Amino acid sequence: MKRVGVIGGGQLAWMMGGAAKKLGVELIVQTPSVNDPSVAIAQDTVLAPVDDATATAVLAKKCDVITFENEFVNLDALSLLAKQGVCFLPKLKALAPLLDKYNQRCYLRDLGLPVPKFFALEGDWEKLFLVPPSPPLPPSQLCFPVVLKARRHGYDGQGTFIVKDIKTLKQKIEASYIESDISQSLFLLEEFIPFERELAIIAARSVTGEVVTYPVVETQQEEQVCRRVIAPAEMTSELAAEIEEIAHTLLNSLEVVGVFGIELFLTEDGKVLVNEIAPRTHNSGHFTLDACETSQFEQHLRAVCGLPLGNTALLCPRAVMVNLLGYEDSQSDYMTKRQQLQQIPQAHVYWYGKTESRPGRKLGHVTVLLENTRDANLVSAIAHNIESIWYSN
Ligand code: ADP
Repeated sequence: MKRVGVIGGGQLAWMMGGAAKKLGVELIVQTPSVNDPSVAIAQDTVLAPVDDATATAVLAKKCDVITFENEFVNLDALSLLAKQGVCFLPKLKALAPLLDKYNQRCYLRDLGLPVPKFFALEGDWEKLFLVPPSPPLPPSQLCFPVVLKARRHGYDGQGTFIVKDIKTLKQKIEASYIESDISQSLFLLEEFIPFERELAIIAARSVTGEVVTYPVVETQQEEQVCRRVIAPAEMTSELAAEIEEIAHTLLNSLEVVGVFGIELFLTEDGKVLVNEIAPRTHNSGHFTLDACETSQFEQHLRAVCGLPLGNTALLCPRAVMVNLLGYEDSQSDYMTKRQQLQQIPQAHVYWYGKTESRPGRKLGHVTVLLENTRDANLVSAIAHNIESIWYSN
């Protein structure tokens, strides 16, 4: 029996519950509220924010290994625990280059992986910019639109702004400077990619260095938030191989142990660019719960427990996953809608058990398994059906 500590107790930790039972693993979570989804499936809970390293020291006493479902941690404080012998998997040095989006872009670029052009903002507006390129580039030479991103703590599009002109850029930067009293160097600026599609790949690496990947998926975002995932994405085998190679390079270079999610842009001319690395299980891999022999959650536990990795193959020709996002402030459990969704053939409905709904909050998801891959309109018809049930009044 292994006892696995999980920093973060949201839906990603909750979805490890089934796999933990199957593998005979105990889960102990560190999460701020008793209402957080994973408290219901955990053997024990340390009630504290994820960046509270004193609480993580308590967590460490209760388990053999600590892993992450949330990367908003205080790495410096955790490093002290690691020095005292606490085992983190993935290791902290695998997380270190990734937690700040600017550092992450630099790391990927230095590895030779393709990324959008990017800049760090430095100095006051008047003498702004940039690393890279050097010499510094004045904002007047920027090509709009650009994408402004908070370097840390962004998620589900929070902290990501598509900016259309220089006036708006100046306003955004100055407003956040005044609002939060933070320095402008906390932003990353990058070129806007007019992508043809967004793609993602889930990959896992074991303690022995074995790397496996899941089929590349298409992800569909609206207002920077993931709405749908289609597995597998339609593409040539050459393109899939190129993306798998990116995953191998990244996980091996970081010596990751566990599951990582990699988000990508595919441009009109067939070029792939890495957008973002999630150093944990990821929304784009939820389909694996029902559509693959080994879910991303089981795979992650297998990796951090030192078990051999499982098979990542799809069990059906195609799957579509639709997020159920909050669309109002409410405390409803939406039982009637969930029952309606259950009626869809081959649908698997997941409800994260959150006690409060807010606009944009991820409350659950539905995965539908498909036998027929020839009907190109089927996927969008199913997604549309799920969304019309969920978002109707
Ligand atoms: P988050 O950490 O909030 O998920 P991301 O960097 O993944 O932020 O951005 C969220 C979404 O915003 C992406 O999935 C994409 O749709 C859009 N986006 C982000 N960066 C760019 C870019 N450089 N060009 C075009 N769209 C982008």
